[in-house]
Amino acid sequence: MDSGRPMFGRAALGGFIQAPPRLGNQYADDRVLRGYLARTLSEEEGASAAPALERMGALAGGELYAQQLAERDLEPVLEQWDAWGNRVDRIALTPLWRRAEELAAREGLVALAYETPLGRQSRVLQFALAYLFTPSTDVYACPLAMTDGAARTLLASGNRALIERAVPRLTSRDPARFWTSGQWMTEAIGGSDVGLAETAARFTPGEGWRLEGRKWFASAITSQMALTLARPEGGAPGGKGLAMFYVETRDDAGRPNGLRIERLKDKLGTRKLPTAEVALEGTPAIPVGELANGVRAISTVLNITRTWNAVAATAYMRRGLALARAYARERVAFGAPLSKQPLHIDTLAGLQAEFEAAFHLAFFVVELLGRDESGQASEEQQALLRILTPVAKLTTARQSVAVVSEVLEAFGGAGYLEDTGLAALQRDAQVFSIWEGTTNVLALDALRAIGPRGLAPLAREAGFLLGAVRETELVALSARIQGALEMAEAWWQKHAGRDQAALEADARRFALTLGRSTAAALLARQAQWSLDHDKDRRPLAAALRFAAAGINLLGEVDPALSRLLADDG
Ligand SMILES: Cc1cc2nc3c(=O)[nH]c(=O)nc-3n(C[C@H](O)[C@H](O)[C@H](O)COP(=O)(O)OP(=O)(O)OC[C@H]3O[C@@H](n4cnc5c(N)ncnc54)[C@H](O)[C@@H]3O)c2cc1C
Repeated sequence: MDSGRPMFGRAALGGFIQAPPRLGNQYADDRVLRGYLARTLSEEEGASAAPALERMGALAGGELYAQQLAERDLEPVLEQWDAWGNRVDRIALTPLWRRAEELAAREGLVALAYETPLGRQSRVLQFALAYLFTPSTDVYACPLAMTDGAARTLLASGNRALIERAVPRLTSRDPARFWTSGQWMTEAIGGSDVGLAETAARFTPGEGWRLEGRKWFASAITSQMALTLARPEGGAPGGKGLAMFYVETRDDAGRPNGLRIERLKDKLGTRKLPTAEVALEGTPAIPVGELANGVRAISTVLNITRTWNAVAATAYMRRGLALARAYARERVAFGAPLSKQPLHIDTLAGLQAEFEAAFHLAFFVVELLGRDESGQASEEQQALLRILTPVAKLTTARQSVAVVSEVLEAFGGAGYLEDTGLAALQRDAQVFSIWEGTTNVLALDALRAIGPRGLAPLAREAGFLLGAVRETELVALSARIQGALEMAEAWWQKHAGRDQAALEADARRFALTLGRSTAAALLARQAQWSLDHDKDRRPLAAALRFAAAGINLLGEVDPALSRLLADDG
C-alpha cells in the first residue's frame, strides 16, 4: 500500500524481526552434565547436589544472562585520586560482578572444595556449579580460580599464621567476610619465563619484608590479598632464587598498601575483569614458606587455576552451542529452519562432539584433583593428575577458541555483532589459551610432567576406561585410541633424553594427542554407560564424531623445513 506518506518503524525496516535465541535452565537442559553426574555420583550424592545445581542452572539461563546482556557496555572504572589529592586507587566494578561475588560466596563456589560435603566428589559438585555459573558472569571465574588456588597453596604451606588469617576468609560463605585473591607473577620481562622476575624483596628489622617492582598483569585487582613472587636480596637468578610472598592489598585504613594501580589493561576480552599494572613501592609482604623456590611453590596455585580454566573453556563451548541450537530452530533459510538443513546439522554435530570431549577431559581432571586432595589417589593417579592438568588446560582452551568461533558463524552476521552478546563470547574465550600458561608453555610442562615413567600411567588408565566397552563401534574406536597412545609412547621413547630440540618442536602435537586420546577414551566409557543405562546413543555419536576429527596429531614434520617457514620474510 502506498499512501504517499513516508513509512516509519517496523514497516520501514522491512517488517521481519528475528526472534533472538533464548536459554532455559542451564542445568535441566544440559544432557551432558546430567549424564556425567548420573554416572559419577551415587544416587544419594546426586540427590543432595541437585537443588544447588537447579538453582544455579535457573539463574545462569535466566536473571544472570539477562543482566549480562543488559550490562554489555559497562566496564570497571579506576579512580586513582580523590578530590583532595589522596591516592585512592579505587575500582568500581560492574553490578553483575558485584552480584557474582555475593552469589559465589553464598553458593560456596570456593568453599565446597574445603567443606567437602561429598568427600572426594566435592570437587565434582563445586566445578559443576562453576561450569553453570561461569558463562553468565563475565569471567568472574577468574578471581574464584585464584582464590581457590591461594587457599590450597596456603594450606599446603603449613604457615599457621597465614592459614589462620586468610583461609577462613577465602573459603567463607558469608559475602561480608569473603576474600578473593590475586596471583601476581607476570612481569614485563616475562610471563612464561617468570624466573626472570625483577621484583625485589628487602628485609628491614622492625619493618619486615617489603617488595619493590612492577607486576604487569594483575587480574581481579580488587582482591583483598595476593600471592606473588619476588627475589630476596642476594637471591640466586632464575626461579629458584624467587620466593613466594603473601600480600594484603589495603592497609587497615583501606588505603593502597604500599602499592599503586598504574592503570587497567585495555583488553580484547574479559573486559569486566579489572586487570592492572601494579607498582610495588615498599609493599609489606610475608614469605609463605622458604625464601627460595618460589616458582615451584606457586605451582600449586597454577594447578588449581588451570583446572578452573579447563572447566571454564568447556562451559563457554556449551553456552555457545546452547545459543546456536536455539537459534537454528528459529532461523529459517531456503524454506526450512537451519536445524533441518543437513550441512548445518553436520556443523553443529562436530561442535557438540568437541564440547563433549572437552567436558569429560576437564571433569576427569577435577575427579583426580578431588581424589588427590582427599588422600585417595594412588601414586599412579597422582602422576596422571600431574600430566593431565596441563594437557586438559591446553586441549580444552584450543577447542574453546575454535568452537566459539564456529558458533559465531552459525549466527551469520548476527554472530559478529556486539549487541547480540556473541562477540563477547569469542573475545572472552580467546584468553583461555593465553593466561595460566600458553599452549606451547603447557605442552613443554606436560613433557616435564611425564618423567621417567613415560606414558605408562596414561596407557593403563586408557586400558581401564576402555575395558568396559562392548558396543562394536566403540570396540573399534578403542583400538584406534590405544594405537594413538602407542604411537605417542614410541615418539616419547625415541626423543626423550636424546633430542631436546625435536622433543620441543613436536610438543604441542604430542600434548594434543594425549589430550584427544584421553578425551576419546572417556567419551567411549560414557557412551557405553549411556547405552547400558538409558539406551541413549548421543554419547556414542559424540565419541565417533570426535574421533573422526582426529586423535593422533603426531606426524612427520621436518624441523628444518619448519625453520624455513617460521623465518620467512
Ligand atoms: C587477560 C589477562 C589476564 C592476566 N592476568 C594475569 C594475572 O592475574 N597474573 C599473572 O601473573 N599473569 C596474568 N596474565 C599474564 C599471562 O599469564 C601471560 O601473558 C602469559 O603467561 C604469557 O606470558 P607473556 O605475556 O610474557 O608472553 P611470552 O612469555 O613472551 O610468550 C610469547 C609467546 O612465546 C611463546 N613461548 C614462550 N616460551 C616458549 C618456549 N620455550 N617455547 C615455545 N614457545 C614459547 C608463548 O607460547 C607465546 O606464544 C594475564 C594475561 C591476560 C591476557
